[in-house]
Amino acid sequence: MMVIDTVEALTKATEAARARGHRVGLVPTMGALHAGHHSLLSRAVRENDTVVVSVFVNPAQFGPGEDLASYPRDPEGDLAQAHRGGADLVFLPSVVEMYPSPPLTSVRVAGLSDRLEGCSRPGHLEAVATVVAKLFAMVGACRAYLGEKDYQQLCVVRRLAADLSFPVEVVGCPTVRERDGLALSSRNACLSGPERAAAPALHRALLAGSQAVGGGRCDPEGVAQVMADVIAEQPLADLDYAAAVDAGDLRVPSHLAGPVRLLVAAGIGRVRLIDNMGAMVPHAEGRP
Ligand code: AMP
Repeated sequence: MMVIDTVEALTKATEAARARGHRVGLVPTMGALHAGHHSLLSRAVRENDTVVVSVFVNPAQFGPGEDLASYPRDPEGDLAQAHRGGADLVFLPSVVEMYPSPPLTSVRVAGLSDRLEGCSRPGHLEAVATVVAKLFAMVGACRAYLGEKDYQQLCVVRRLAADLSFPVEVVGCPTVRERDGLALSSRNACLSGPERAAAPALHRALLAGSQAVGGGRCDPEGVAQVMADVIAEQPLADLDYAAAVDAGDLRVPSHLAGPVRLLVAAGIGRVRLIDNMGAMVPHAEGRP
């Protein structure tokens, strides 16, 4: 496994791989790798010949007062995990390597970036879209593996790849969870014992929302309230949002139909967690 920290070396290595006829897979991460990242890497290794894991904590996507300074970092552990997972290249750039000068250009996927996380974390998804576009430009033609855990981010990245004609196929991978339903996240390491015990409330809320939708409930506000009520039962949880939206454009429709995405965000102590789940409104007799 090769560890590289310059854009030039990354571009050269991926160009050389394609020249040898290799299919290139890319797994973009912020490090502190866990089994969720590992599932993306395993799939990338199965489906490609050369796999790049990038590890970059992008300062631009943290707002003022957010957890940039305390975000978990474990470069040595990441290298060991990437090696075990079968990565061929690990790209570990410095902030200066990624942003030699403050960028004047940014990528905003209008609408998709502005809802949900866009309201709670203004500028966050724009910064994510910008850094992912930079990685796509550096790596070139590839398949990029992203988790459904960050569903809105996945939608934004799919759309930017299509809109900007990147030669990149974006592959969405299912969320890996703990036994009690908590979605794996690097931020889980920051939870205290009682907070960790409280955190599965997000998953329970999604299950309750999904049951409501599966039972034919199709008013988005009502489904959102079902999820909010579950989170409200947990005193350590502070709800940011609970929403039932169209799975494609992430808008709240007047009534839910077809594939729906349920999304929640909540503070558990000082740690902000997000989670989501798909649901399907059953076809009802007489409804178009
Ligand atoms: P992060 O390091 O948190 O920015 O995540 C890097 C990639 O891993 C993103 O595409 C995430 O959606 C994905 N990811 C994070 N947690 C999970 C999880 N529990 N299951 C599946 N994918 C995940």
